[in-house]
Formats: sequence, structure tokens, C-alpha cells
Amino acid sequence: MTELNKNKLLRKLPSVDEILNKPEICRFSDKFSRTITLRAVQSILAEKRSSIMSTKEPVTCVTKFQLSIRPEEIEKKINTLRQPSLKQVINATGIIVHTNLGRAPLSDAAVKAVCKAASHYSNLEYDINEGHRGLRYSHITSLLKELTGAEDGLVVNNNAAAVLLCLNTLAKDRQVIISRGELVEIGGSFRIPDIMNQSGAILVEVGTTNRTHPSDYTRAINDQTALILKVHRSNYKTVGFSSEVDLPELNQLGRENNIPVMFDMGSGNLVNASLLGLSDEPTVQDAVKAGTDITTFSGDKLLGGPQAGLIAGKNHFISRITENPLTRALRIDKLTLAALEATLRNYALNPEDIDSIPVIRMLVMSESLLKKRARKIVKAIQGLIPSLNISIDRDSSRVGGGAYPLHDIPTWVVSIDPTPLGVNEFEQLLRTAPIPLIARISKDRIILDMRTIMPDEVSMIPGCIAEVTESAKLPV
Ligand SMILES: *Cc1c(COP(=O)(O)O)cnc(C)c1O
Repeated sequence: MTELNKNKLLRKLPSVDEILNKPEICRFSDKFSRTITLRAVQSILAEKRSSIMSTKEPVTCVTKFQLSIRPEEIEKKINTLRQPSLKQVINATGIIVHTNLGRAPLSDAAVKAVCKAASHYSNLEYDINEGHRGLRYSHITSLLKELTGAEDGLVVNNNAAAVLLCLNTLAKDRQVIISRGELVEIGGSFRIPDIMNQSGAILVEVGTTNRTHPSDYTRAINDQTALILKVHRSNYKTVGFSSEVDLPELNQLGRENNIPVMFDMGSGNLVNASLLGLSDEPTVQDAVKAGTDITTFSGDKLLGGPQAGLIAGKNHFISRITENPLTRALRIDKLTLAALEATLRNYALNPEDIDSIPVIRMLVMSESLLKKRARKIVKAIQGLIPSLNISIDRDSSRVGGGAYPLHDIPTWVVSIDPTPLGVNEFEQLLRTAPIPLIARISKDRIILDMRTIMPDEVSMIPGCIAEVTESAKLPV
């Protein structure tokens, strides 16, 4: 299509006022608001203009462009505009710590604490007993010490920040020794060598990808060495001919050479993983007990709290880290602090109610409960759409968040064959529903894993499936 024809076509589009003055559109202004109706109309017109301008179709295809604007189109746009961009989605993927879906949902206690801190003044940096300025970190240090056994603790924005801060404080312009097998990338652009670079520390790689021995570290130590770093390879495993120097051995080596040892744990378990049905991996307490000088871990992975980077370590290191001006730039905000304190209090004071933390609850959810949930959902869906090909099945969930990469957790799923609709098409419809339902696709079926669906979402699933199935039948 030529520019001239395009311009002709653009002029044929109705004006904003023409559209707004139509009685069926006025109705929307009354029902919602004039502002949002106007925004919807402007946005649809802008989309039409840009689709005309970008088309490469010949002029004979002009009729292809819908120049009039249907009320349904406007209503749909209004409904989109009425929703915030960041919104609830239902996680039916079976990946518990799903980074793209916001990692850990908070416990009720944590949510309450956030609301209170958000809507009122607080003693965030105020010492109530002394009546003068206090420290924001004071609200969690004793909990962190009690739970991990560490001499002191600090918390910052996230674990990436914690690693950056520790390296910058302890090893700027000096050498940090790390095994080649631990130079990992943890998704979302967190690469150990890059963080090391940003911190000003000088990376000294030792060993090989699959094998690193104590002597590799020893040989690399010189008067420029500031730190030995161990990184938990949380998101992949080396199997076969491999060996690494474990934490106690590394700590021993550090002590002998008077060099601090730091352990980036990633997802820090505070409860023994085997109690959660996971293969045995060290807890933060184990790392501290092994004599590690500094241990860093995330707040929103297996801990099940808000996004945060926790640092547990020896007194003099934590003091130096706290005094680093970078700490101010990476500081945790009060809402996060409130959620984190509530979560840590749960571990410290109500360990018998540890499964009120959603991540923990999902991990330990019994197969019989999951099966019951799947049956209930299937029955309700069959009541709404008897013709749908649907069944329950055994399958496996994943921890996610880069933890336990090879560990499958047995689960129960609802499995749907959406024929005549394609499985990808159905998945997209679920994903774009008013409350998006994020499912898995496996062998041409839609899989809804019962494990990661929140309790208050279970009753929403049948309606959502029915709505999507119905809407797909409508002519487009
Ligand atoms: C997840 C992870 C990080 C990054 O933590 P964030 O809290 O996402 O910043 C760093 N190191 C390891 C080993 C991790 O698993």
C-alpha cells in the first residue's frame, strides 16, 4: 500500500469524539468513567493507526482493516485498563519457587505485618526505650543470630546484593579464589564473574569444571588473597567424574592460611531439607557451624519470605560490611523488613506451625491431599463442561528458584485434552484470562499441578476452565 493510500485510510478512521458520542459508548462512560473510556478509545485508535502504517498489504486489501470500532472491543480494552499491570496469577506449573511468578507467596502473618508497617508509622529506625535513633537492622539481627547460630547478621535488598556487598567490603582490589566448577549463572543475569567484577574484587579461578582439589586452592593463595568463595551450585549438578572441596575442608584451609571463607548458599534452608522430603543439603546452621566466616542466602527461595539477601557471619566481618556505604544503597525497605521479621519469627517461635509458610506447606503437601484436590476440581469441571476430555494423573513438581535441580516431588495433576482446540491455543487462553492461570503443557495435554495452587484459588479453577472453553467456542 502506498503512503498516499495509507493516509486516505487513516482519515477514514472515526474521531475520538465521534466514537464517544455514540449512545452505546456513552453507556461505558456512565458505567466506568469517562476518563477510562476515553483512554480505551484513544488506545484502540492508536493501535489501528499503527497497524495501517506498518502494513505491507496491497491497496486491494483495504477492507481487511476494520475501520469502525465495535463496542465489545472498547469494553475489552476498558477491562484491561481497569486491571493493574502487576496482578495475581494462579501458578499451576508445579514449580514452587517460580522466579517469573514472584517466588515465595507470603504467610498470613507476614502479610499482616506488611499491612501494619505500610499503613502506620513504625519504630523502623527509632529506639523506643532510649528515645533516640535506632538501627533498622536491629529488628532481625537477634532472630538471625538465634536461627543460624551466627555471631551477627545483616540483611539487604536480595542475595545478589548481599554477595556484591560482601565481596566489595572484604576483597575490593584484592583476589578472591573460587573453583571453576562454581562460576555459575543463576538466571536473570546473575553471573558470579560479573558480580565479582562489579564488586572490584579480582577473580582467581582454580581447578577444572568437574574437579577441584584442596591443593588447587592452596597453590592460588598469596599475599594478595582476600577471600575464598564457595558458591552453591544450586541450579545444576555435576554427575560422574567430579569432586569439589566441601565447606568444612575449605574453612580449615582458610583458618590455616588466615583467609576468610564466604559461602553463597543461594536458597538457604533453615530447616533440614530431609524433613521437607528433599535430598539432604546443608542448612544455614550447618554452614555456620562448619566455621564459615560469612554465609549469604535469599529471603524468597526456600526460606519462604520476601525478597531479601541475608548475611550471617562473624562479628568483625558483619561490622565492616554494615559500615560500607554501599549498604545504604542496597538497604532493605520497611515492608520487606516487616515480612522478613514475621517469617523468621515463625521459624524461631512457632516451628510447629512452620507450614503456615506457603513454600514449606507446598513442599510437604501430601499426595493424598493433592489427589483429593485434583478429584474435586475435575468433578466440578465435569459438572460445567461434561464433554471435556479431562482426567487426573500422577506427575512431578519441582522446587524451582534454582534449587534441587534434579529433585522430582511426586504430585497429582489435572490433565486436559482441549481438542478441538490446540493445546498451545488453550494454554494461551488460560494465561490471558482475567486471573491468569499458568499451566504446563505435556504430550498435547494441559497439565494443572495441584501443588502450587493457593488454597483460596482451588475453587476458582473450574470456572476459569469453563469460561475459557466457552469463549473459545465463540466466533472470532
Ligand atoms: C538465587 C541465587 C542467587 C541470587 O539471589 P537473589 O536473591 O535472587 O538475588 C545468588 N547465588 C545463588 C547460589 C543463588 O542460588
